[in-house]
Amino acid sequence: MTSARDLIESAQICGREAEQLVLTLLGRDRAWLFTHDNEPVEAESIPVIQQALKRREQGEPVAYIIGSRSFWNLDLAVTPAVLIPRPDTELLVEWGVERIRRADLDRCLDLGTGSGAIALAIKAECPACAVTAVDRSTDALAVAQANGKSCQLQVTWLEGDWFEGLLGQRWPLILSNPPYVRDEDPNLHRGDLPAEPREALAAGPDGLKDLKHLIATAPDFLEAEGYLLLEHGWDQAAAVRALLLTAGFKNIETRRDLAGHERVTGGCLDHG
Ligand code: GLN
Repeated sequence: MTSARDLIESAQICGREAEQLVLTLLGRDRAWLFTHDNEPVEAESIPVIQQALKRREQGEPVAYIIGSRSFWNLDLAVTPAVLIPRPDTELLVEWGVERIRRADLDRCLDLGTGSGAIALAIKAECPACAVTAVDRSTDALAVAQANGKSCQLQVTWLEGDWFEGLLGQRWPLILSNPPYVRDEDPNLHRGDLPAEPREALAAGPDGLKDLKHLIATAPDFLEAEGYLLLEHGWDQAAAVRALLLTAGFKNIETRRDLAGHERVTGGCLDHG
């Protein structure tokens, strides 16, 4: 007989990840494991679980194997077409929600939405705010759209390359978690990153290619006093602040993530 504990201990991966995979595939939670860890697992589940553990041993991210990741208070489907939502990005959501509440905004735009994490978390917090989300990847948008349905949250999903399909529109708030990793950054070969879409991660030799484009183009798509909030790498805040200043933004501010790294920078368009 094979128990849940046997399966967890048989895997050559981190114990918590093995536990998460085994419990998810058994449809159980951690509380169950305390009292049932030595009971035999149904025979038909065993090869399925062993297969999943093997995929993890070979480097596939847990989120892709189980097909979901929680973000904010949402359970989101993820596939290799989208970046796996990170807790750091909740900082961008928090700031966006704060802007929407403070200025009573009725609209906002999320560029490069991927799984739809930012757009959906904002919609969940601010139901009266109309959220539009853009991605150039058809496959990513399909994931985002499915997440909107399963979370029962209404977001307008648009296919396009950054501002491409938005000509003539102006927004009071634009948010983005663009690619910002340097092309040569060794982290692209570590952890979960090799399995994630490179186009969602890498952004030229300095990692600033997309941030530069967003900052230079946003003024044409922001209302007077509109805000642009951007996630970036831990060492890119000064560069992003300088780019915002050059592009005519004021009230430029950087906020730190849970690890204390400068992670999100934003500013307000100065039309004065
Ligand atoms: N924070 C991510 C990482 O370094 C990168 C996300 C991004 O490029 N937007 O793993």
